[in-house]
Amino acid sequence: MRIHLKTLGCRLNEAELETWSRDFQNCGHQITQNLDEADLVVVNTCAVTNEAVRKSRKLLNRAQRQNPHSKLVVSGCYASLNRDESAESLGVDLIVDNRDKDRLVAIASQELNLHAMPEQATVPGENNLLSRGRQRAFIKVQDGCRYQCTFCIVTVARGDERSRPIDQVIGEINQMVDQGIQEAVLTGVHLGGYGSDSGSDLSQLITAILDQTAIPRLRLGAVEPWDLPDNFWTLFHNPRLMPHLHLPIQSGSDSVLRRMARRCKQDEFSRLVQQARASVADFNLTTDIIVGFPGESEAEWQETLDYVEQIGFGHLHIFAYSQRPGTRAAILPNPVSREVIRQRSETLHQLGEKMKRDVLQRYIGREFPVLIESAPTTPEDGWNGYTPNFLRVQLNHTPEENLENQIISVRLQHLSESGDTLLATQLTGTLS
Ligand code: SF4
Repeated sequence: MRIHLKTLGCRLNEAELETWSRDFQNCGHQITQNLDEADLVVVNTCAVTNEAVRKSRKLLNRAQRQNPHSKLVVSGCYASLNRDESAESLGVDLIVDNRDKDRLVAIASQELNLHAMPEQATVPGENNLLSRGRQRAFIKVQDGCRYQCTFCIVTVARGDERSRPIDQVIGEINQMVDQGIQEAVLTGVHLGGYGSDSGSDLSQLITAILDQTAIPRLRLGAVEPWDLPDNFWTLFHNPRLMPHLHLPIQSGSDSVLRRMARRCKQDEFSRLVQQARASVADFNLTTDIIVGFPGESEAEWQETLDYVEQIGFGHLHIFAYSQRPGTRAAILPNPVSREVIRQRSETLHQLGEKMKRDVLQRYIGREFPVLIESAPTTPEDGWNGYTPNFLRVQLNHTPEENLENQIISVRLQHLSESGDTLLATQLTGTLS
């Protein structure tokens, strides 16, 4: 069968799609990028905001309209939270709940009677990430979360914490290494909760991966700023573990953090940042901020601005609060007006751009290995990639040879006009 896979939302959804792609191919099915020719369409939905729900529904309707003869399988947070609604959607043949999504291919094969043709199974790696222009592999290691942040629907949609066995994760990363992948990104809903259900922890997982695989670069996806194992920062002494963390703080005001039921307040977050900067060279810190959480007063907003500036982040993901039915925050009083949210988001964007410039400026003149991820799109454009600490780099000349997926040494020369990229020259020979 020809299978078309589509996902919305987070890196975890992307990692799951990659696993389904491999599992379907191992059963002898083909993966097609073309929706029109597919015999089976699988959609991994998202429900983190109302907008994500709208897009999920739109994707289902488009799949049905564009290819009414295909079978349609739906999974993900929207489908898990709105089973009946999804089932009523036109043409949905099967809904696989988030709790069962690791077995989606087996369930679909059984429920929809998909004929496996192992003799036609594609050579492992034939239709791999690199052939689809991806250089980083998102590896799902954990699912679910025991916490109840009041704005979060993910904890409702994905259920209790469950960790993938270490040997399974290592097996998948070694497969990626065999395919030539240079960087693996560990993803989960609550990465810090890895092993809470199996007597292990995130440090043991990272140590095992660095010991038992040859992956050149190991990166961590978003990590909640708590439940980090004791020796966490010493792990970064291994240069194959990338010195960058995305630690969502969500607000810089303790009173707002209390209404969000976040386990990490200003003091704890500051301590974490101090530990990281003291023990990890060139550590780059990025974060998420929700703007306009119910009741967010002018004073609380100013607290957030001051705190964000005090910490100094390499990048800010800024989310305008939107009421999400099914969350406790949805019934909190004193909603902030859209106009105020728009103004505050604008102010934070400007601060974010200034902080990014300041961070990038500090690295001018330094030499780093960069994983080249994308080819020039215009004559002015150059090869693009990221340093280990996730600074965006563009080679300011376009050598003849294909640099895609290569780790090359560069000297960072100056900041791009846009202020979000470092222009660099390629170094011959090894780094000084
Ligand atoms: S810790 Fe993260 S996933 Fe868990 S409830 Fe809070 S925001 Fe949601």
